[in-house]
Amino acid sequence: MTNDDGATHWIGGLAVASRGGTTLAVVDPATELRVGTLPVAGADEVSAAVESARAAGPAWAAMKPSQRLGLLQAVAERIISAADELADLESREMGKPLSMARDDITMSAEGFAGAAEAAIGFFTVDDAAAGRLVRHPYGVAALITPWNYPVCQVIDPLGALLAAGNTVVVKPSEKASLSVAALGPLLADLPPGVVNIVLGDGSTGAALVEHPGVDLVHFTGSVATGRRVAGTAGQRLIPAFLELGGKDALVIDEGVDPTWAAEVAAEGGFANTGQVCVSVERVYVHRAVAQSFIAALTEQAAQWTFGSGRDSDIRMGPLVDARQRDLVHAQVQQAVAEGGRLVLGGELPSDPGFFYPPTIVVDPPDESALMTDETFGPVIAVRVVDSFAEGIERANATEYGLTASALTANPDHIALAAHLRAGAVTVNGGGDGPDDAPFEPARASGAGRLHFGPRALESYTRPQALSVGSAR
Ligand code: NAD
Repeated sequence: MTNDDGATHWIGGLAVASRGGTTLAVVDPATELRVGTLPVAGADEVSAAVESARAAGPAWAAMKPSQRLGLLQAVAERIISAADELADLESREMGKPLSMARDDITMSAEGFAGAAEAAIGFFTVDDAAAGRLVRHPYGVAALITPWNYPVCQVIDPLGALLAAGNTVVVKPSEKASLSVAALGPLLADLPPGVVNIVLGDGSTGAALVEHPGVDLVHFTGSVATGRRVAGTAGQRLIPAFLELGGKDALVIDEGVDPTWAAEVAAEGGFANTGQVCVSVERVYVHRAVAQSFIAALTEQAAQWTFGSGRDSDIRMGPLVDARQRDLVHAQVQQAVAEGGRLVLGGELPSDPGFFYPPTIVVDPPDESALMTDETFGPVIAVRVVDSFAEGIERANATEYGLTASALTANPDHIALAAHLRAGAVTVNGGGDGPDDAPFEPARASGAGRLHFGPRALESYTRPQALSVGSAR
């Protein structure tokens, strides 16, 4: 729970006040005013959370999947009932528009128990004599999350980790912990210790991954931190599921409706103020439609009004903090200084708050940071190309590989779009894709097979080949 005295950890089924030590201020990015205080858990608090998860592990793993399903459904209902409160906290700590936060949280909560339903019949230990594949939970999972979807980034993997029989220690981002701390009491239907939440910064996350009582790491965040987490997990020989950054591209072919293409690009580039791992950050547009596409995108972008997330008229909130805004603005300024054409935005608003306008830069140099590094802001870089194939080739010229998309009416080009090197590829806005498809980010965008549905049970359990012969 949160109050003026600061947020608390959730350990062993209880709100646990900090034992002293460092605290961090939580600042509303729309007003720059302090809205809360965050304790930074030290090694002893991390240990208490891990030990609590270890103690709860055997009983949770032994529980019938149908019993776990009932408990997880009860938690989901509580989260849905608390969606307004959670959305308000998210909006105050990281700026998100209230309605967007509420809808995202509700949708994630509705899927929370999905894996638990699939878990019924998944664990096949009842017929051991036949010899077969048996699946065991790993044990204690460390779930470390970023700030851009604070509650969803926790509850999306949490439901499946729990349904698989693991117990969990959550470490949310220091930039958006108030909403995650508020999840603690909503977990009261679960046995104490099955889920624990420790608040803190990178030092807390590092202590958690290093803890010998942790058996699996699920990490979502930046590439730099992901490499550190993977290094520790590698040394400890425990699995690490890593969902990292992206520099996602949209390739637009000749012959597509420029207005439609602009809508797809604007939604992909400006939603959540561009602070989405799968944001459209680069657009490669065929020369034949480039001019009309840029005109339509400029018109669309102007409709992405920005302001406080509590103002129902706006479509974009602020960026999460001053550091993020400085990074975004520096990339835009550098790209323009090196020859990119600023078509819209690119100016820092003078009012308080870490706002940044929807921004379009045409033909920045390929080697500018705007084209090579993750921006995580409401900026779309548009590069004009001479063919669809050139667009695909340029889209692939990146160290990232999270998702990519293409718009084309040409059947041959649809096949070409499959050459986009990314964990997920969407053509023409997508359609009925495979159910519960696994998703494995390419290159620096992550590692490990991730699922957003019932098949996550395959990732979050350890397979054991059981082969039983006849005794003599
Ligand atoms: P970050 O890497 O700075 O922090 C992520 C989390 O790791 C935080 O909880 C942080 O406290 C913790 N942490 C920091 N140092 C650590 C360490 N040494 N050991 C363990 N934990 C540590 O990322 P961020 O700024 O919070 O989030 C933005 C990034 O997340 C972007 O790069 C974005 O693309 C990425 N992201 C990826 C996905 C995805 O699904 N691929 C989704 C959302 C965000």
